[in-house]
Amino acid sequence: MGNYSLVCRSCGERCEGDAYRCPSCGGILNTEYPFDRRDALCSALRNARQYWDYEPFFPIGRECEKVTMGEGFTPLVPTPGIARAFGIRQMSIKNEGLNPTGTFKDRCMSISISKAKALGASAVVIGSAGNAGAAAAAYAARAGIPCYVMVPASTPPERVAQIQLYGARVILVRGSVTDCIDLIARVYRERGWHNVTTASAYNPFQADSEKAIAYEMAKASGWEVPDWLFVPIGGGGILSGIYRGYLDLFRLGLVKKLPRMVGTQEEGCCAVVNAFRAGRKPTQIERVENPAGIAVAIADAYPLDGETALQAIYDSGGCSESVSSAEILEAQRLLGRTEGIFAEAASSTTLAAAKKLREKGVVQAGDSVACVVTGSGLKDLQLAARHMPRPAEVEIDPEQLNRVVDGMEAAV
Ligand SMILES: *Cc1c(COP(=O)(O)O)cnc(C)c1O
Ligand SMILES: [Zn+2]
Repeated sequence: MGNYSLVCRSCGERCEGDAYRCPSCGGILNTEYPFDRRDALCSALRNARQYWDYEPFFPIGRECEKVTMGEGFTPLVPTPGIARAFGIRQMSIKNEGLNPTGTFKDRCMSISISKAKALGASAVVIGSAGNAGAAAAAYAARAGIPCYVMVPASTPPERVAQIQLYGARVILVRGSVTDCIDLIARVYRERGWHNVTTASAYNPFQADSEKAIAYEMAKASGWEVPDWLFVPIGGGGILSGIYRGYLDLFRLGLVKKLPRMVGTQEEGCCAVVNAFRAGRKPTQIERVENPAGIAVAIADAYPLDGETALQAIYDSGGCSESVSSAEILEAQRLLGRTEGIFAEAASSTTLAAAKKLREKGVVQAGDSVACVVTGSGLKDLQLAARHMPRPAEVEIDPEQLNRVVDGMEAAV
């Protein structure tokens, strides 16, 4: 198989060969790496120049053909203007909006579609709020594998169009993203589909993709670690993955500490925040009834990887915070006009929460903060457009133009 083993979270059994769930008890599988070649692993981390250079940390055999197109290795952008606005010493943004389909889900799909292909999948299926669906569709197109995507019927039409453009077979489901995922769970085995839904309960292979976000961030900042790392929580996979990435770096001695993980959600759908506030165990996260809000990419009624995410939050001394739709839009606009970065609503929860925690005094003036902007705002232009004023409009007339510009200068 290669450099990894699949170990059952429930019964502890080690799988011979690849599987999506434990062959003995049906439990969720974790990946494990021996870490016996420490020097080789450290030099892989130090010298990496592209996403697949992290292959020793992915559950993929060397012989596996990679389905890839420049995902990952996104920039870590210093944002001193935001740091000043929030009263924080240092701030930066990992801009995942630069991935091929506009979100970090490309990292996940590059691995899981490569794996599905190696395992001879005749078709893949995914339940998604739209972003993972688009990524699955794009990578499946490159792999030449038919792709079924189930998204909530309320998904913004541009997202659906993007998925269709990559040639996937889209089915709108009258329910939430959690309902889409549950519906697929009832049919995918019978249909022989490989399920690439981004949850370790369905696909343990994609779950290691986000570790690379930590590797890349650490390398880009000279192996410094931010005091606080803000990550949005939908299913919880990305926060869990990034934290495991930092644990790897810590174990290998490349970083001296771990970041405090902050999981951010929108008020209308915040199962992890509710559990954190109530001091509940990671196994006791409760499903949200009637999820609401504008951050569609993280509107998971039940976070399938919430358990590992909340555990990471507790272990790292972090916290979980929710923000309102208005706070999200405000943060989105602030980031755009201060730093020139257009973040998705889901991603803007990180900035809104950083501001809130600074105001509460949880984050202190001397701290360093990083936010993961998980996706590009271009993926939901309608949302931004709905909240922008109508621009001035003029005839083809220089006098009129000058009057309008004079008015704009006076308004500043
Ligand atoms: C999927 C997604 C998230 C949440 O990721 P999880 O792993 O489900 O927690 C956050 N932001 C964007 C833009 C996403 O597409
Ligand atoms: Zn088992």
